[in-house]
Amino acid sequence: MQKVKVCKKLFTSVTIHDILIAIMIEGDAMQILKGYVFRMYPTKEQEELINKTIGCSRFIYNYFLNDKIKEYKETGKSKSAYDQIKLIPSLSKEYPFLKEVDSCALRTSLFNLEDAFKRFYNGNGYPRFKAKGVHESYKTNNIKSSYKGNNYNSIKLDLKNKTITLPKLKEVKIRGYRNKEIIPSEVKSAVIKKDTGKYYVSVLIEEELIRPTFVPTNIIGIDLGIKDLIITSFNEKIKNNIKINTKRMIGLQRGISRCKPGSKNRYKMKLKIQRLYQKIRNARKHMIHDITNKLINENDIIVTENLDVKGMQKNHYVAKGLNENPISEIIRVLKYKANWNNKKLIQIDRYYPSSQICNVCNYQNKEVKDLSIRNWECPVCHTEHERDYNAAVNIMFKGLEKYMLYLEQSI
Ligand SMILES: [Zn+2]
Repeated sequence: MQKVKVCKKLFTSVTIHDILIAIMIEGDAMQILKGYVFRMYPTKEQEELINKTIGCSRFIYNYFLNDKIKEYKETGKSKSAYDQIKLIPSLSKEYPFLKEVDSCALRTSLFNLEDAFKRFYNGNGYPRFKAKGVHESYKTNNIKSSYKGNNYNSIKLDLKNKTITLPKLKEVKIRGYRNKEIIPSEVKSAVIKKDTGKYYVSVLIEEELIRPTFVPTNIIGIDLGIKDLIITSFNEKIKNNIKINTKRMIGLQRGISRCKPGSKNRYKMKLKIQRLYQKIRNARKHMIHDITNKLINENDIIVTENLDVKGMQKNHYVAKGLNENPISEIIRVLKYKANWNNKKLIQIDRYYPSSQICNVCNYQNKEVKDLSIRNWECPVCHTEHERDYNAAVNIMFKGLEKYMLYLEQSI
């Protein structure tokens, strides 16, 4: 805590530590939904069945989307997912291949369609038809049943033997989470996904989480930037360390344009590009978890600006570096991790001029609005400021103010 200069008048008599420690919040238990992703190693037959199920889910989606659009154009209304589900048996007589696959996957597909159509009602265009080769996946829910006093689950995860049992597919080999021996509760649902020729299953599990007691001793302000991804009120700078091999990407793009459409080489090139994208996505994911774990482990109260990333992208100067900026994802992950660990994430008003205010004397220097100014001297107290570090300290103070207001109201 000593690393931050506590300069504002408000804090001259008491240290931040004294203020923070005033209130502790008892730990408790909560139910959370946690996702686990495993690589799947299906046999040839299982692979075929997975592909068939993905195909049938897409078929059902497109068939009923067509139906919905037609009906909507005629009557201004359309059938609900529940009504559509009732039509699956008669449709299966016409298209017998539908009987071969997990029926739950077909039903889930209709709920997805209903969600997509809700977005249409909210003013977007009609949902798009699903094309082959794009987002190849299907979802199935765990269905519990009992027979002769025994309980059965349609999805079973066995980490000891490294298998997952799925409807119709039966046992499929999986890999992942080497250090975990058991997952302490039942699976709620599973998404089976095909990506760049590989198969994955992500399972959703409801777990009980024991949250530790909230002992607020550390507060940190973070400024989310472009050049450095994060600048903290401890003047730590965290860079976006994802390196994209643009040369290779351009080379591959050029390569694919030279291949004949539909040729084997083109398909191989496409796979290579998809794998490269996947590598980047995975690296980003790891980076985001590393950053957020560190922030959550080392601090009790984390203060950020409530950024409007969409709005930021409109500003061209800012947008330059934001193309692949994971800021909104960092905030999303911070939110749930703070909740799971009984820490506080405080978001302050995005219009608070954190970069313009001198964190020593509170003078607001409007000239600093210009984003190209990286360093400035306060005309009143003559402190030298680094733009983002000064902003991070101000964000921390603003968050502390908000936290104290919250304490006053809750006492
Ligand atoms: Zn000043």
